[in-house]
Amino acid sequence: MGDRPILASFYRLKRFSLNLLDFFLPRLCLFCGAAVAESAAVAVCADCEGGIEWVESPVCPCCGLIFPMREGEDRLCGTCRTEPPPFARARAAAVYEGPAAKAVTRFKFGRQMAYLPVMQHWLQGQRCAELVTDADLIVPVPLHPKRLRHRGFNQALLLAGAFPEAKVSLEALARVRHTPPQVGLNPKERRDNVHQAFAVPRPEEVKGKNVLLVDDLYTTGATVRECARVLRRAGAKRVEVLTVARVKHE
Ligand SMILES: [Zn+2]
Ligand SMILES: [Zn+2]
Repeated sequence: MGDRPILASFYRLKRFSLNLLDFFLPRLCLFCGAAVAESAAVAVCADCEGGIEWVESPVCPCCGLIFPMREGEDRLCGTCRTEPPPFARARAAAVYEGPAAKAVTRFKFGRQMAYLPVMQHWLQGQRCAELVTDADLIVPVPLHPKRLRHRGFNQALLLAGAFPEAKVSLEALARVRHTPPQVGLNPKERRDNVHQAFAVPRPEEVKGKNVLLVDDLYTTGATVRECARVLRRAGAKRVEVLTVARVKHE
């Protein structure tokens, strides 16, 4: 009881010194190094923020494809019409270009953790957060234990930390086959590469649930399609997909 006032003054002092540090060390933009306005939510300057292409209509309401012609309403793309994917919706915050592409690659391959809160902030945007509201369970796309040991972290799991209120399960889906990276493979090779790479160890965990898969990047969708397929087969009611960025196909 008696040491509380001392503790309180210690915390006050600590807060004061942190504010002081902020004062002398202004936040710098992670992309260009310019000073960032104090009101900015994350360390991204207005110019770099302006260089981000957000995913906006018209898109395919199912797979999230960004139509190259920027006119008209959201509409099903040809592929989703003829061959609907095993997931109901896929959404991404930004187009995989400029600062968004830098953030994804510097975080994943360069292990630059400073980009994590920035990408989490993008995921918290209204278009993306809507999918979280509708989900019973968030499942980060798992890495094979071998890849996890090499990288040291699962980027999808860390990104899912953007939603501390949501139920996140890394055990709901397992990567049972170690596959080479998808980078440099064509769509057919990507599909073959991830075929039967995932399993649901305890189907009762996903049965009847609305599952939201989270990953950093949607390229052709081969990985999340395969994840969604096994989740649905294990009894998941609906699977949706949320990624930070998405490749734009011209
Ligand atoms: Zn900048
Ligand atoms: Zn589509």
